[in-house]
Amino acid sequence: MVKIDEPLNKYTYTKTGGPADIYISVGNIEDTAKVIKYAKENNVPVTYLGNGSNIIIRDGGIRGIVVNLLKLNDITVTDDRLVAQSGAAIIDASEMALQHQLSGLEFACGIPGSVGGAVYMNAGAYGGEVKDCLSHVTAINEFGDIITLSLEELQLGYRTSRVQTEHLVVISAEFSLKKDKPYDDIKAIMDDLTERRESKQPLEYPSCGSVFQRPPGNFAGKLIQDSGLQGHRIGGVEVSKKHAGFMVNVDNGSASDYEALIDFVQAKVKELHGVTLHREVRIIGEKLK
Ligand SMILES: Cc1cc2nc3c(=O)[nH]c(=O)nc-3n(C[C@H](O)[C@H](O)[C@H](O)COP(=O)(O)OP(=O)(O)OC[C@H]3O[C@@H](n4cnc5c(N)ncnc54)[C@H](O)[C@@H]3O)c2cc1C
Repeated sequence: MVKIDEPLNKYTYTKTGGPADIYISVGNIEDTAKVIKYAKENNVPVTYLGNGSNIIIRDGGIRGIVVNLLKLNDITVTDDRLVAQSGAAIIDASEMALQHQLSGLEFACGIPGSVGGAVYMNAGAYGGEVKDCLSHVTAINEFGDIITLSLEELQLGYRTSRVQTEHLVVISAEFSLKKDKPYDDIKAIMDDLTERRESKQPLEYPSCGSVFQRPPGNFAGKLIQDSGLQGHRIGGVEVSKKHAGFMVNVDNGSASDYEALIDFVQAKVKELHGVTLHREVRIIGEKLK
């Protein structure tokens, strides 16, 4: 499905984002490769969108082609291997692992991203991360070639991966899981993590999760809280009163509200604590002219 000047705010968790010049929701791997090849040959920029849960798209939108991968969402399980296409929700992959009594993906049970986005970010929570259970990935490079990358080749680090540095698109991921726990034990871990998440995170508002990476030996949320910034608002976006690491869109906030609040918080924390906060959330696209 192809749309012209498609507003992107409906595809992001922050509910911000101007239009994509060309928006394509791909339905299969071959079409994805064709779009990428065409874009490369014609010098058109391509941006990939997963579930939009770690991205702020600026109010001027995105030039070129935006490829949405959410229709590629099959998940299959064979023995202790779970293969998920990039657009599948990592939450569904975690649930599917539970149904097959496989452990390893419990940490992902509340991360609202796609499998592709989770690999791109090496998403993690509560002591687990994608790197711990990923076996390999099928991807497409910027020339439209389908390639396979082993865990080592992916170079996953704290919220980083080779997918980011080489502008690859993840097509599917194979996870190597364990048959070391009964269903009830796996479920108990997932229930506990869900409870912890629901009690601490402002899930009732649009947000992009933790805005900042964890600084070495510290916590971004704690530094922001200690700076007295909870509830600080710019436009329609405020530092969450429930979890200082989150910025919530409480009143039709824009991407420029988000950016201004991020800059403000970074400057205040630097001034008061001498710590530089680096963003975890990706900010892409153009400002409004
Ligand atoms: C309430 C809330 C809680 C969260 N909790 C956590 C948490 O506990 N742990 C954590 O790590 N994150 C968390 N996040 C952030 C987010 O869910 C993860 O980073 C997730 O992995 C992003 O996946 P996505 O599909 O939404 O990616 P998007 O936001 O759509 O994209 C993020 C980046 O990945 C790229 N990308 C997406 N799909 C692909 C693909 N198939 N191939 C190549 N590049 C791709 C995009 O181009 C973009 O640069 C949370 C977010 C929210 C809103």
